[in-house]
Amino acid sequence: MKIAVIGGVAAGTSAAAKARRTDPDAEIVIFEKGTEISYGGCGLPYYISGLIPDRDQLIAFTGEEFEDKYGVEVRLKHEVREIDSHEKMIYYKNLATGQDGAYQYDKLIIATGASPIKPPFEGFEKENIFVLRSVKDGDRIKAAANRDTTKKAVIIGAGLIGLEMAEAFTEMGLKTTVIELQPQVLPPFSQEMAKLVEKELQEKDVDLVLNDGVAAFKGGDKLEKVVTESGKEIEADLALLSIGVKANSELAKKAGIEIGETGAIKINEKMETNLKDIYAAGDCAESKDLITGKAAWIPLGSTANKQGRTAGENAAGGSYSHSGIIKTGITKIFDLTAARTGLSKEEAEKNGFEVTEVKIKARNHAGYYPGADIINIKGVFANNDGRLLGAEVIGGDGSDKRIDVLVTAIQAEMTAADLFQLDLAYAPPYSSAKDAVAILGMVAE
Ligand code: FAD
Repeated sequence: MKIAVIGGVAAGTSAAAKARRTDPDAEIVIFEKGTEISYGGCGLPYYISGLIPDRDQLIAFTGEEFEDKYGVEVRLKHEVREIDSHEKMIYYKNLATGQDGAYQYDKLIIATGASPIKPPFEGFEKENIFVLRSVKDGDRIKAAANRDTTKKAVIIGAGLIGLEMAEAFTEMGLKTTVIELQPQVLPPFSQEMAKLVEKELQEKDVDLVLNDGVAAFKGGDKLEKVVTESGKEIEADLALLSIGVKANSELAKKAGIEIGETGAIKINEKMETNLKDIYAAGDCAESKDLITGKAAWIPLGSTANKQGRTAGENAAGGSYSHSGIIKTGITKIFDLTAARTGLSKEEAEKNGFEVTEVKIKARNHAGYYPGADIINIKGVFANNDGRLLGAEVIGGDGSDKRIDVLVTAIQAEMTAADLFQLDLAYAPPYSSAKDAVAILGMVAE
C-alpha cells in the first residue's frame, strides 16, 4: 500500500500519522512544497509579538522528527504539479534541485490548504507589505515590525487574524490602524456584538477605519501610506493584508476532482472526493454545516486536524467519518474573548427557520469573588420548538467555556429549556449559582 499526501501542515500530518497507526506497513510519503511541516499557524500572532519567544515552539515536528516518529517519508521543497487519477501518478518538481519526478500511489490525500487573497492593489509590490500564513511570513513580519524605523502599522481586514495582529503590533509598540470594508469588525458576528470589540480596540488605541477599502499603497520602494477608497491617506511603515483566504483547489480541479460552490474540494463524510482512492482534507476541502445540511467552508485548524485524521484512517483501509461543523470560531482581542457558533439570525431565516434572538449580560463568576468580569451572550432560538441554533459570546474570562457549552448544546439539539436544566459546575471562582448559560435559557424560554 502506497499512500501519498500532498501538503504537510495540519491536515497532511494528521492524515499521515493516522494512516501510519492504521497500517503499520504502508509506504507513506508527504510532499510539501515549503520548508516546514507540522507547524501551528494559529500561534503566529503570538510569535510575532514575542509572547512566544522561539519560532521552534510553533513547530511540532521538523521533517526529520516526523520521519523518525511515524516512519513517514517527508519530501520538503517538493511541489506536486499534476495528478493523473487514471494512472494513479503524481508529478512533482523538486524545488531545491529543479528536477522533475513522479510517484505512483494507491491512495492519495490532498491537503494543500489555503492561501491569502491578494487582489492586485496598486503598489502591492512595495517593501513592507505582507500577508501572514507560514512561519516564514511570520519571520518577515516580526523582523520588519521590530525595526527601529517601524512605528506605524496598517492592517487591512478586521477578521480574526487581522484583529489578533492588531493586538500583536500594539503590544510591540506600533501605532496600529485597521481598515475594514464592512461597517463592523469581525463580519461573521452581529453588528451589535461586534461593537463591544470595536470599543475594546479603541480603548487600546487601535484606530478603526470601517466601511472603507484599500485603493493603493503609496511610497518609493518602501511603503509610506495606505490610500483608501474614500480618499483617506494613512501613514504606514508596514502593512498586513488579511482579507481572507482561498482554498488551494486548482491542482485537484485540473485532475477532474469536483469543486464545490465555495471554491473548495467537494468531499463526503469519509473525506472521499468524486475520484476513486483520492481523499481531501483541511482548508482545501469543504465540510458540511450540521444545522442546514449544506456544504460549508470555514478554513480552521480545528477542522483540518479532524478531517486529516479521517482521511488518513480511510486511506489506510479503516473506516471513519467526520460528520461536519457548526462554524465555531474564537479569538482573543486584548482583554476580550470573541466567539461564535452555529447560525446567525440572518442565516437561520435564509434557511427557513423563524427565530428569536435573545441577548443577556451576566457575570463570569460570583460577583463577590475577586476578578468578576462581564460576559455577553446572544442566542438564536427557533420559534417553533425553542431549539438553540446559534450563539455569540463576547466578554472576559470564562467566555471560552460558555461558547463550548453552547456548541455542545447546539450539536445535541437542545432547547432553551434544556439550557436551564444543565447541571453545570458551580463554585464562586468559576461561575454563579445561575450560570450565564442557564440565564440565557431562562430568558429565552
Ligand atoms: P495549510 O496550513 O494551508 O497547509 C497546506 C500545505 O500544503 C502548505 O504548507 C503548502 O505549502 C502545501 N501545499 C500546497 N500546495 C502544494 C503542492 N501543490 N505541492 C506540495 N505542497 C503543497 N485556525 C483555528 O482553528 N484557530 C485559530 O486560532 C487559528 N488562527 C490562525 C492564525 C493565523 C495567523 C493563521 C495564518 C491561521 C490560523 N488558523 C486558525 C487557521 C489554521 O492555521 C488553518 O486552518 C490550518 O493551518 C489548515 O491546515 P491545512 O493543513 O489544511 O492547510
